[in-house]
Amino acid sequence: MGEQPIPLPMMERHVRLLSGPGPGVVRRSPRTGGVFTDLGVAMAGFGILVGVVFPPVVVGLGVSRAQAFRPSFWAASLLAGLVVGATGWGLCRRIVGRPVGLLAGRTHQVAEALSEAAVSGDWTACDPQGCRIQLDSHDELGQAADAFNQLVDQLARMHQIQERHQGLTAGLLEHPGLTEVATWALGQVSRAAGSPAGAILLLDAGQLQVLASQGLLHPDRLGDSILVEQAITRASTATVALPEDVVLDAVIAGVRPRQVLVCPLQLHSAPIGALLLTFDHPVTSTEQRLIEIDARSLSLALHNAASRSALQALAAQDPLTGLLNRRYGEIRLAEEMARSLRTSTPIAVVMLDIDHFKAVNDAYGHLSGDRVLKAVATIAASALRQGDALVRFGGEEFLGLLPGADVADALEIAERIRAAITARPVRIGGLSVAVTVSAGVSSWPEAQTTTPTELIRLADTGLYRAKQAGRNRVEVATASQAGTPAHSTT
Ligand code: GH3
Ligand code: MG
Ligand code: MG
Repeated sequence: MGEQPIPLPMMERHVRLLSGPGPGVVRRSPRTGGVFTDLGVAMAGFGILVGVVFPPVVVGLGVSRAQAFRPSFWAASLLAGLVVGATGWGLCRRIVGRPVGLLAGRTHQVAEALSEAAVSGDWTACDPQGCRIQLDSHDELGQAADAFNQLVDQLARMHQIQERHQGLTAGLLEHPGLTEVATWALGQVSRAAGSPAGAILLLDAGQLQVLASQGLLHPDRLGDSILVEQAITRASTATVALPEDVVLDAVIAGVRPRQVLVCPLQLHSAPIGALLLTFDHPVTSTEQRLIEIDARSLSLALHNAASRSALQALAAQDPLTGLLNRRYGEIRLAEEMARSLRTSTPIAVVMLDIDHFKAVNDAYGHLSGDRVLKAVATIAASALRQGDALVRFGGEEFLGLLPGADVADALEIAERIRAAITARPVRIGGLSVAVTVSAGVSSWPEAQTTTPTELIRLADTGLYRAKQAGRNRVEVATASQAGTPAHSTT
C-alpha cells in the first residue's frame, strides 16, 4: 500500500507545530498573540454560552418559565458559566503551562550553556544529566520533553565526537615519526572505538608493512589478509563477522572477535594503507562512520610523517653512494658515543681511504672514478655487522661506526673490509680495476677519549700510519700515538 498523502489542513497544522514560518520557530497565536490568552477568551465565550443556554434548558426540565427567565437567574447562570470558564482556564495554565515553562526554561539554560561552552571550552554546564527534563507524561508534552532530551543527548554526543576528533588531530600533529604517529593513533582510535586488538598498515613500494599493532599474535601476517586487500582495492570499509577461515583469525590474540573491520587509508583517493580493528560486538553504522572519520585524519598524518622521514633520509644521504653523509654521520657517532659512555659498552670507528685514487681518476676518468667509489662503498657496507653504519666522510674516505666493538673487533672488521675490496676488482668498460684501501682504527675505552672528534682524529692517525707503512693495510691508533700528524683528508 502506498503512502497516504496528508490532507492539506492537517499538513498545515504539522508545519505550524513543527517548524512554523521559519526553521524551528513556532508561529504565534493568530488571535491575541498568546496561547493562554486565546484559551481565556475562548473559555469566557464558552461561559457566556453556558449562561445563555442554561435557562431554556432548565425550562425543558420542568422549571417554570417565569423562574427560569428571571433576570437574577440569567445573571446567576452567566456568572456560573464564566466561573467554570475561568476555572478551566486557570487549571489549564497550571497543568499545561508549568511543563511548557519548564521546557522553555531548560531550552534557555542549554542555549546559554552552549554559548558559554563555545567560548570557554568548559562543557560541564551542558552535561545531559543536568539538562534533561523529567516528565512522566505520555501525550504531546511528554513527546516534546522526550524530543528535548534526545536533542540534549545528541548535543552531548556531538561534543564528544568533536572532542575525540580534535584530540586525535592535535595528537597526530605532536608525533613526528611515522611509527610514533601510528602507535599513538592506534591506541587512541582503539580506545575510542572500544576495540581490543588492531593494526595500522602502510603501503610501501606495493607491500603492506605493519606500522603498529596491538593485541595481535602475528601482525606480520596481515599483509596477506584477503579482507585487508579487499578494503584497499575496493576503497571502502570491509567488515567480517565471526571470521572462520580468514588469515586474520589466526593472528588475533585473546578473545575471539565477533567482528573485524578494515578501513582503507587513502590520500586524494589513492590507497596508502589500512586501519584494522577487531570488536567483540557487532559494529554499528554510526561507529563505523566515526572510525572512517578518524581514518581520514590518520591518513593525512601518516602521509605527512612519511614525507618528513623521506625528506630527512634524503637530507642524511650522500647522493653518490647512498651512505650517510658526513654531517649526519657525525651526529650519529655523537649519539652512539653518548650511549656507549652511558652503558659502558665499547665503541670503535674505522677510517678508510682508497689508495692512489687520484691515479684511478687520471687513468679512467672522473665518471669511472665515481663508479669505483660506489663499488667500494657497497663492498665496505656489506662487510659491516648489523647495527654498524658507514659514512661517506670525504671524497674517497669512509668512516665506519662500530657500536659495541672493542679494538680487536674493529681490527677484524676493518681487515674484512680491506680484504673484500682487494678481492673484488671493479669492472669498468670491460676492464678490471684493482682497488685497495688503507684503514685506521680507534676504539673507546682504549683511546682514553670521550669525544667523537678525538676518536675520529685517532682513527685518522691510524690511517696515516697505514699509508706510511705502504697502503692496503689496517693500523690501530691509541691515545699515546695521538701526537702523530693526521692523514690529510680530502
Ligand atoms: P692516497 O693513497 O694517498 O690516498 O692517494 P689518493 O690519490 O687517493 O689521494 P689524494 O688525496 O691525492 O686524491 C684523492 C682523489 O680523490 C682526488 C680527487 O679528485 C678524488 N675524488 C674526491 N672525491 C671524488 C669523487 O666524488 N669522485 C671522483 N671520481 N673522484 C673524487
Ligand atoms: Mg686516497
Ligand atoms: Mg683521501
